[in-house]
Amino acid sequence: MDKMALLLLISSLTVVFTLGHGSLPLVINTWPFKNATAAAWSTLQSGGSVLDAVERGCARCEMEQCDGSVGYGGSPDETGETTLDAMIINGDTMEVGAVADLRRIKNAISVARAVMEHTEHTLLVGESASVFAENMGFIAEDLTTNNSIQIFSQWLKGNCQPNYHKKVFPDPSKSCGPYKPRAAPRRNKRAHHGMMRSHDTIGMIALDEEGHLAAGTSTNGMTHKVPGRVGDSPIIGAGAYADSSAGGAAATGDGDVMMRFLPSYLAVELMRAGADPSAACKTAISRIKRHYSEFFGAIICANTTGHYGAACNKITGFSQFHYMVSNSESDTPLLKSVDCF
Ligand code: ASP
Repeated sequence: MDKMALLLLISSLTVVFTLGHGSLPLVINTWPFKNATAAAWSTLQSGGSVLDAVERGCARCEMEQCDGSVGYGGSPDETGETTLDAMIINGDTMEVGAVADLRRIKNAISVARAVMEHTEHTLLVGESASVFAENMGFIAEDLTTNNSIQIFSQWLKGNCQPNYHKKVFPDPSKSCGPYKPRAAPRRNKRAHHGMMRSHDTIGMIALDEEGHLAAGTSTNGMTHKVPGRVGDSPIIGAGAYADSSAGGAAATGDGDVMMRFLPSYLAVELMRAGADPSAACKTAISRIKRHYSEFFGAIICANTTGHYGAACNKITGFSQFHYMVSNSESDTPLLKSVDCF
C-alpha cells in the first residue's frame, strides 16, 4: 500500500471512530436527577414518544421537586411566591410550547405541552398562563411549602440579602425594597449574581431509534428573584433547542446571562455544521465566558446519532458538572460528569 492510500485509510478510520453511530434511543438530562431520567427512559421503552418521555421526565422532577429547584415549594421570589418556567420542543416539527412565571400550577411542563398542542402560540406568561392551564383542566393550588416559607422569612430577616437589584435606593446590598432608581449612578461593586447558586433546572433531551428528537426544561427559576422575572428555561434556543436534523441541547445556570447568547441554539447549529457534541457544548459556553467570565452555567448536547457531551464554566465552587444519561448500554440511568473549563 502506498503512503497516500495508507493516509486515506487512516483518515477514513478516524471518521468512523468520531462519527460512528452512538447508542439510540437516548435520554440525557442536566444534574443528577436520576428518577427523571428513569421516567423518561421507561416512557420510551413502553412505546411512548420522545415528547412523552421529555414531559414525563420533567414532570417527575416537578413532582419530586428534585433538588428544590424544580417544581413547587422552591425558589420563592421577593414576595415569597414560587413561580414556574417550562418549555417543550418537538424537534421534528419545530413546534414549541412554553410557560413562564406560571402561578399556582404544579405541572408546568404539561402546561407547556398544552400551549404547544392547543394553541397557535409559543409562550404564555404569568396569571394568564395560569388561567389557560385551569381552562385546560389543570388544578390550581398553592405552590408554597413550609420550606419556601422558611427560605423567604430567613431572607426577610436578613434584610433581603442577597437580591438582584442594582443602582437603586435604598442600597440593595443592605436594605429591603421597595427600591427607586438611584439618581447619581455609583459603580456597582457587586459581580453579577454568579454568586447566588440558589438555582438549577431540569433540561432534558430524548432521541428515539427513528431519529425523533424532543427537548424540554422545567424550573422554579432563581431564589429571591424579582417578581415577574423569567429565566432562560422557557426561551427557545436559550434554555433548550432541538432539531431532529441536527441535534438537541439544554442549558442550566444563570439564565439572566445565558439567555443573552442563545447557547442551546448555538450548540445545535454547531452540531449541524459537524461539530461533535462536546465541542459544540464547549463553544457555547466559551461564547458566554468571553463577556461574563464568572457566570455559573452548564450545557448538555446530543447529536442525531446518539453521541452526547456537556460543558460548564469553571468558577469557584463549581469545577465539575453532573448529568444523567440513559441509553441501550445500561438498564439504569448513568451518572456522568464533565470537568468545567
Ligand atoms: N437557568 C435557570 C434560570 O435562570 C436556573 C438554573 O438552571 O440554574 O431560571
